[in-house]
This record gives sequence, C-alpha cells and structure tokens, in this order.
Amino acid sequence: MFTRRMLIVLVALCSLLIPLGAPSAQEMPDFAALIEAEDVMTHVRTLAMAIGARPMGGAAEGLAASYVAAALSDWGYEVTVQEFNAIAPVEGADAGTAIVSRNVIGVRPGDDQWVVVGAHMDSVTAGTGAGDNASGVAAMLAAARALAGLDTTHTLVFIAFGAEEGGDPPGAEVYVEGLGDTVSNIIAMINIDSVGMGTALNIYAGATITWPEDEDAAPTIEGGPVWVRDLALDLADEMGLLFDTSPANTWGGFTGDWSDHYAFVQAGVPIAYFEAWQWVGAADPWWGQETAEGDVMHTPGDVYSSVVPEKVEMTAEVVAATTYALATGMAGGE
Ligand SMILES: [Zn+2]
Repeated sequence: MFTRRMLIVLVALCSLLIPLGAPSAQEMPDFAALIEAEDVMTHVRTLAMAIGARPMGGAAEGLAASYVAAALSDWGYEVTVQEFNAIAPVEGADAGTAIVSRNVIGVRPGDDQWVVVGAHMDSVTAGTGAGDNASGVAAMLAAARALAGLDTTHTLVFIAFGAEEGGDPPGAEVYVEGLGDTVSNIIAMINIDSVGMGTALNIYAGATITWPEDEDAAPTIEGGPVWVRDLALDLADEMGLLFDTSPANTWGGFTGDWSDHYAFVQAGVPIAYFEAWQWVGAADPWWGQETAEGDVMHTPGDVYSSVVPEKVEMTAEVVAATTYALATGMAGGE
C-alpha cells in the first residue's frame, strides 16, 4: 500500500536527485579576491581629489558623471546620461537656484527583472565629498567591474545619481518617475551612501517614515520588506565581514526618508541601504552621525584622508555578492 509516508520519502528523494540532474548550481564568486582596496580607493581619489567637491549641477558633478560613464562603458555596460532640471538649495538662504543635474545609468541587459545598485555622486561644498559620497560611488563601481565578467540572468542597472544633497527633485526621484510602470521590473535596489567613515558599517531595510509635528518626538516607521537587508547581512556574515544594522530602540533595522533609496521605497521596491555610521554610544539614539574621527559629514573634515579603505572595500565586496545573488536568482523576493 502506498502510504502518505512513502510519498513523503519519494518527494524527499526526488528533491535530492533534481539538483544532480540540473545544471550545476550557481556558486558565489570570491568577491574578496576580485575586489581590492587599492582599486576601490582609486575611484575615491579621482572623485574627491582630482575632481574635488561636486555640487549638484556644476562642472565638477559633470566631470564625475563623465568618469563614471567612461568606466561603466569600458566594462561593457550600456550607458545613458539622464539630464534633468532641479532646484539646488542655497546654504543660508531659502531661495534655490535652477540647475541641470544628471544621472549616469549603466545597464547590462538580461531578462525583465532588474537589480538596481545606486550611489549619489554630488556633494556639498564643505570638504570634498570623499566619504559622502565618493566612497559609495567607488564601492558601486568596484562591484560593477567585478560583475561585468560574470553571467547573470537578470538585468543589472548601476546608477550614479545627481542632486541628492537637497536637490528638488533629487536624481533618484527623476529616475524612478521616468520609469513609470516599468518600475515594477525592479526586484531590489541597493543604495550606497557614505561608507568610508564612521565607526561601523551598517545595512538597513527601507521604511515609510512619518515625522510628527513635535520635532522631539519619534517618527512613525512603517517597515517595508527586509529580505534584501537580511540577504546582504547573511552574505557579509558568510564572507567574515562585520556589518550591523540600526538598533532596536531606534530605527530597528530600518532607515529613514533621506538618500536615494527613498524614491524606490515609495514606489514599492525592496531596498537595502549601506552606510558607515555610529550607533553604539551615539549621543542621539535617532542620529548616529558622530564618528571616531569626529563629526565629519558635510564638514571640511570630509576629505580623502578621512576615508578608511577597508570600509569601502568591504562594502564593495558585499554589494557585489548581494547583487550577484539577486541577479542570478540564487536569492529572490518573498
Ligand atoms: Zn550622501
């Protein structure tokens, strides 16, 4: 008699056999060997030293865009530059300035599921935007280069955004709105913003944020999907690289409504956001900006010498592994 237990055994056997008959399972490439700190730091030096501060819409942002476009193109990506009009904030004044900024978009076509990796290339003018965000663009470029030689099923999209530092609209919003319904092709977005400084590397999930009228009160955090964050944290762990997330008593593993991921969050795209930040021992539980080097973000201290090469390298390696897992279907949505 064929019992239910026999069926379970048969199913278990089949599930053991199927992988043997199928093409060999995807193996994770050794991104730690493919990505070296010196290569990553070359990008940081070019952006933050050779070019310097990159205010939105300016000539320096244009040079950064040309650098990113040339690199992605060299590695075989199809590059387009998306120019857009925006209003730039003017420090110390309410009135903004009309500017033309740009996003650089590099695509390696695959099927109609896309994995998007982004980092903003513009900076404020205090310092040279080495940490914020030459470090993020460098990590993105290193990941793009490592992935260029590897097969993936899904479409890869790498974007250097313009006008993140208070532009209205920021480049990420322009990109997402320009997609229309096609935004549903994006299975996951990875944002990299400011990974070179700060005491710890973190990965967060996206959430919809509502700020209360009372500025001292906590925001309402409506958490979005966490699987991209958890995939990245698991891969980092497997690679022996130390990454953390925001503490349970504040953001609880999520991040806020700043930076390029938020346009994607609002469009329903699952995201993971990479950032170097201090949470343990931060004076403000909701804001971990202080770093071992002092409070450098958006200050004259945000220069090349403050960037920790290993942080940018580690970020590039985990971003590459996460993107590979997503783009090969090794890991997917829930
Ligand atoms: Zn930034």
